[in-house]
Amino acid sequence: MTRNIKAELIERRISAGFKRINFSLPSDLKKAIEGALKKESVFLAKFTLENILKNNRISGKNRLPLCQDCGLAVIYVEIGEDMKIRGSLTAAINRGVEEAYSSAFLRKSVCGPLTRKNTKNNLPPVIHYNFVKGDSLKIHIMSKGGGSDNKSRLKMLNPSDGLEGIIDFVCETVKKAGSSACPPYIVGVGIGGSFDTVSFLAKKALFRKIGTGNRDKILNKTERDILERINRLNIGAGGFGGMTTALAVHINSEPCHIASLPVAVNINCHSARSLLLKF
Ligand code: SF4
Repeated sequence: MTRNIKAELIERRISAGFKRINFSLPSDLKKAIEGALKKESVFLAKFTLENILKNNRISGKNRLPLCQDCGLAVIYVEIGEDMKIRGSLTAAINRGVEEAYSSAFLRKSVCGPLTRKNTKNNLPPVIHYNFVKGDSLKIHIMSKGGGSDNKSRLKMLNPSDGLEGIIDFVCETVKKAGSSACPPYIVGVGIGGSFDTVSFLAKKALFRKIGTGNRDKILNKTERDILERINRLNIGAGGFGGMTTALAVHINSEPCHIASLPVAVNINCHSARSLLLKF
């Protein structure tokens, strides 16, 4: 049976969601930072982690943005084939983003790539749609900082580069980012697909909750191995050294062409703002 949802409800939830994520860190990220703080021994790195948590408390209490870069709105929609939206879904998402950024005075960070002229409403968002079975609707939202997106990379490896080549590329990307993408990081990795889909796989990996292991046995081990190697780079929280360069590595993978091995790394910063909206 078909389920109906009004587009207005989606608009309201999108708006409330973007305000929420800009004023308060997700609970899994907060927990990961608290856990890292307990283990970290470098004084300035500890100080940075404490200040990220303090910043979160101040933001929540005063409804002030966690970071001056309130991000590009990235939205991943999983819509059931038996779900009917009354009204336009895309228009509702756009209106929700615009409402949140204007009424909560979040910085509008979208501009023409060559004119550099600000669109003044943080539109357009980046929206990905995926049709699934059933009558559910899930909308993952993210405010993605530009500084960390800038340090992300994509490479078409040779199939013979294998897992070692992938791990080297991910670690090299984080090393090149150094402290300029606001560590500690969440590292999203896409493996496989094609040139156009691998970066989406990497971004989608950033929506996964920290602390939930990869269901694939090989990828699960690879995530732990890469995280360990990254945390030996001594970049650390705020770039002050120590063992907290990254809090998590999340990998998404899908089949690819026999001649290819696409890999993408999407870095997210300590202000990793995302939320899942279920309808
Ligand atoms: S990378 Fe993240 S923490 Fe750094 S300025 Fe951008 S949004 Fe803020």
